[in-house]
Amino acid sequence: MSEVQKSEQDWCKALSPEQYRVLREEGTERRFTSPLNSEYGKGTFACAGCGQPLFRSEMKFDSKTGWPSFFTAIPGALETKVDRTLFMERTEYHCANCGGHQGHIFEDGPDPTGLRYCNNGVALKFEPD
Ligand SMILES: [Zn+2]
Repeated sequence: MSEVQKSEQDWCKALSPEQYRVLREEGTERRFTSPLNSEYGKGTFACAGCGQPLFRSEMKFDSKTGWPSFFTAIPGALETKVDRTLFMERTEYHCANCGGHQGHIFEDGPDPTGLRYCNNGVALKFEPD
């Protein structure tokens, strides 16, 4: 179980409508809409729901997909589940602390992992070092 337990009403108050749609309803933001796509400063990408650090700037790469992309994540920060919507089997991942949906993992990323964590920018907040 996630450590942070809030009612859906609490989340609705704490988040913007777009954050709520992505984090709590597993929505997907429109590509190329997040300013974090082009954020390459040194720092930490934290969960917009609870502030838990999820990725470091060193883990980010330019996937040209229109969503912030990472080849790995901070150990223990995320949990995964199989998502069978859209007639595909994909690996969904979410914040291990609050359960907020972040994105999907694809196996077309760069070395050293070969993975691409395709993240909704609205579900993240960037904290410069
Ligand atoms: Zn969180």
